[in-house]
Amino acid sequence: MILLNPNSYAPKDLDATSADLMRKTIAFFEAKGKTRLKKDDRERVWYADFLEFVASEKIFAKLLTPAAYGKGEDGYRWDTFRNCHFSEITAFYALHYWYTWQVTILGLGPIWMGTNEGAKTRTAELLREGGIFAFGLSERAHGADLYSTEMALSPKGDGTWSANGSKYYIGNANEAALVSTFAKTTDGGEFVFFAAQPKKAGYELVQNVVNVQSYVAEYRLHDVTITEADILSKGQDAWDSALNTVNVGKFNLGWASIGICTHAFYEAIHHAEHRVLYGKSVTHFPHVRQLLVDAYCRLVAMKAFARRAADYMRAASPEDRRYLLYNPLVKMKVTTQGEQVIDLLWDVIAAKGFEKDTYFEIATRDIRALPKLEGTVHVNMALVVKFMRNYFFNPGTFPEVPCVTEARDDTFLFHQGPTKGLGKIQFHDHQLAYAKVNLPTVSVFKEQIEVLKEFLIASAGDVETAAVQGKDIDFLLSLGEVFTLVAYGQLLLEYRELHPEDVSDDLLEQIFDFMVRDCSKFALQLFSKPSSTPKQMELCQKMIRKPPVDTARFDRIWNEHVHALRDAYEMRP
Ligand SMILES: Cc1cc2nc3c(=O)[nH]c(=O)nc-3n(C[C@H](O)[C@H](O)[C@H](O)COP(=O)(O)OP(=O)(O)OC[C@H]3O[C@@H](n4cnc5c(N)ncnc54)[C@H](O)[C@@H]3O)c2cc1C
Repeated sequence: MILLNPNSYAPKDLDATSADLMRKTIAFFEAKGKTRLKKDDRERVWYADFLEFVASEKIFAKLLTPAAYGKGEDGYRWDTFRNCHFSEITAFYALHYWYTWQVTILGLGPIWMGTNEGAKTRTAELLREGGIFAFGLSERAHGADLYSTEMALSPKGDGTWSANGSKYYIGNANEAALVSTFAKTTDGGEFVFFAAQPKKAGYELVQNVVNVQSYVAEYRLHDVTITEADILSKGQDAWDSALNTVNVGKFNLGWASIGICTHAFYEAIHHAEHRVLYGKSVTHFPHVRQLLVDAYCRLVAMKAFARRAADYMRAASPEDRRYLLYNPLVKMKVTTQGEQVIDLLWDVIAAKGFEKDTYFEIATRDIRALPKLEGTVHVNMALVVKFMRNYFFNPGTFPEVPCVTEARDDTFLFHQGPTKGLGKIQFHDHQLAYAKVNLPTVSVFKEQIEVLKEFLIASAGDVETAAVQGKDIDFLLSLGEVFTLVAYGQLLLEYRELHPEDVSDDLLEQIFDFMVRDCSKFALQLFSKPSSTPKQMELCQKMIRKPPVDTARFDRIWNEHVHALRDAYEMRP
């Protein structure tokens, strides 16, 4: 089965050392138990026990030290494939544990991407000592608008600088060994990344701005002396490493959603099965079956898509930047699908989802965070639509990307280079994946794609409207939703070709059942936009389709995939 189940954890394609780390992590949480997990959540206890475990097993050190700084020791590398496993597992137990790992990844980004060799060597040591890291980008007044950065570095005239200013929403900044801090110089207005040290004089930890177990800090620097040894990058390199770090980090948000939804799914179906109303299990209601089948299919699709996107992250190079489309989709599409999964499940378990002893209660809170962190859905969608023209009308030729699970360092992620030129990036022809599948529901979806292309061609032909709509982010966001579905479906099909054992014909069809419905929904939204033209409205109506009905298939999915999980997993008390 494609979904994580701690009771039968047997990761395909993970080497023995890595699989052992994952198993130990599962064992740590299962030994901690649900009662303690929930108590710590409720009482907002700093997760020192988890960090002690991570330090003693050298987990962050092994998973987050590029091989070049790992002294040749076994298991030290930055390997996106296994990092996906760790993200999924930690979020499966609670988002806080994932978050401290996630912001450590972000904090390490500017260090590993920079040219300060001394800082890299020191960082590798700090990781071995169990250090965590932080990423100081956002500021209170203007969030992640980097141009408006107010954290200032002023030259002192002796080759050093004085740092002044504050940062807001910075995870781990209470305990981090180093805080990668984004600033501007006061003399030239140049961007710069430097490493701040919470233990040094002048570093004021102002407050935790959130009301949960994680520490999401406001910190302030008062005349902190910064030397060349603390500078990670300057100018264009600093700017690029800010954006390229977010590229690496935001991928994990999708994996956190997958972990949360998987645990919530087990809890929900278990509860529904064992709750008896009017003498029958709740799972006898046809609408409950529909909700659970939809939740399951959306969850499987989230994971299959994110797995395939990881292949493109790992295959990326200066010549192959396709990951820059698939990665924001993992951030934006997978995480918003996660919200839908929780909504569907919550409609099934209703009051139970509020109870203090359920995982579900924290899932309902935490699932909302992921679409909003590291750039909102809007920001990512605005990015994604830049790729639409080349995606549909100017495909490139690339060697086939296999399933990339080998134990190797993903060094390109730290050498992504300039962040510009997005409109020039090409993709392989999406039709290659779609042409290989002729199942009835997938075929309806393919017809919807053809209408979308007709829509885009007709829209581009109307030059005046195109100029107006091109600047209308509200319109573009809805158009982007339809486009996103096409790329989502493409990678799902590619995943299924590589892993037919994970996604049967039946399951694929049931997944495309919601894809067809979602496409219809977004087409209706586009239809209703103030600026849509009569021609566009006509094509939107043509895009609205009903998926073929196949009740026998639905029943098979219910019986063999969904209902079969009713007692598959319960966290130890
Ligand atoms: C729990 C938590 C932890 C966090 N951890 C960190 C951390 O460790 N380090 C760190 O640096 N930051 C961190 N952040 C900050 C986080 O990355 C930002 O909150 C996030 O990027 C959203 O920014 P914002 O809330 O400031 O939204 P704003 O930037 O204020 O956006 C407001 C609105 O404008 C829209 N918008 C903004 N720009 C665009 C655009 N270009 N195109 C279209 N629409 C746009 C947004 O979609 C939104 O609807 C954290 C935040 C939280 C809540």
